[in-house]
Amino acid sequence: MNTHNHTRALGTEAATAPFKTLEIERRDVLPTDVQIEILYCGICHSDLHAVHNDWGGTTYPIVPGHEIVGKVSKVGESVTKFKVGDLAGVGCIVDSCSECSHCQDGEEQYCEKGWTVVFNAADKKHGGITYGGFSEKIVVNENYVVHIPETLDLPGAAPILCAGITVYSPLKHWQAGSGKNVGIIGIGGLGHMAIKIAKAMGAYVTVYTTSQSKADDAKRLGADNIVLSTDDEQMKNCPKQDIILDTVSAKHDINSFISLLKTDGSLVMVGLPAEQLEISAFNIVHGRKSFSGSNIGGIAETQEVLNFCAEHNITADIELINVNQVNEAFERLENNNVKYRFVVDMVGLKQ
Ligand code: NAP
Ligand code: ZN
Repeated sequence: MNTHNHTRALGTEAATAPFKTLEIERRDVLPTDVQIEILYCGICHSDLHAVHNDWGGTTYPIVPGHEIVGKVSKVGESVTKFKVGDLAGVGCIVDSCSECSHCQDGEEQYCEKGWTVVFNAADKKHGGITYGGFSEKIVVNENYVVHIPETLDLPGAAPILCAGITVYSPLKHWQAGSGKNVGIIGIGGLGHMAIKIAKAMGAYVTVYTTSQSKADDAKRLGADNIVLSTDDEQMKNCPKQDIILDTVSAKHDINSFISLLKTDGSLVMVGLPAEQLEISAFNIVHGRKSFSGSNIGGIAETQEVLNFCAEHNITADIELINVNQVNEAFERLENNNVKYRFVVDMVGLKQ
């Protein structure tokens, strides 16, 4: 029998409503499940898009949060990968068909039957709507849970679960590394992780930012070359790129960046502005350039990026906030006023 567990959570009841404490239900731990006491959860711009219903399809109340780290507090009798007390993480994916070729290849994010997002998704297996990491605890099948290396600062590691994997996966796929010029557009949560990770892979990293104050900070983050993208002269004089990763969350001019690619270069979209983007055919035809996209990363690769970050001593630059500051944080994120990721200390939910 599946009785339910009452769980305190933070959610909103409409696109413009403030966050408030809600009571949600978590399933009891099934034989293959892990229950995690959530300690920290990052705030990604996708949480903001979803709360504001930018993409359509939001079901209220919504409990966002998909950069989850915590401690295992219960395990089902068949669980083999985790034990009580382990540090554990959950990102975007909490279920998939596990049978299609993509799932078999560890690329659950491209599951042919559609994977289950940790929040605001219909839970095909267990019913109801999924609720994310802005909560006291979460129950997830062990196959969708990763280990957090002990050496990583825990709140700073939370953003690796989305921002980190979302930039690591395409950087690896398009072979960023020594001898490659990699451009990163936007220095937000994803962008600042992309600088650190591309640099650790050995690439020559150029960042394109609209914010002077971030341009001043980008060397410290590891960028080799910094371009204020609002300055035409700087755009004209920067080196041509093999790969450009576009992390921008709002409508912007893609063509001016495609123009910065070398022959055979690729511009990879990871940002998800709600608006359509326009691309000039001439701009990609001349120079055999590619315009492509990439969605988060699979579970095995999420473990891989966590291990990579531990090896290279990489965590996010975060502003740690308590549960009472979440409304203000969403406002500041909307106004592009965070360096570079908010992480919520979930301990406040227990009081
Ligand atoms: P973020 O922290 O808000 O960063 C976005 C950055 O884009 C900003 O810091 C800013 O950088 C730049 N920007 C914002 N508005 C702009 C505008 N109007 N014109 C030009 N540049 C602008 O957001 P995030 O959490 O990194 O997420 C970025 C995007 O990726 C979101 O759309 C999110 O939904 C999406 N996302 C996709 C995936 C995926 O799997 N593909 C995963 C996670 C997130 P500067 O100040 O440096 O210009
Ligand atoms: Zn995200």
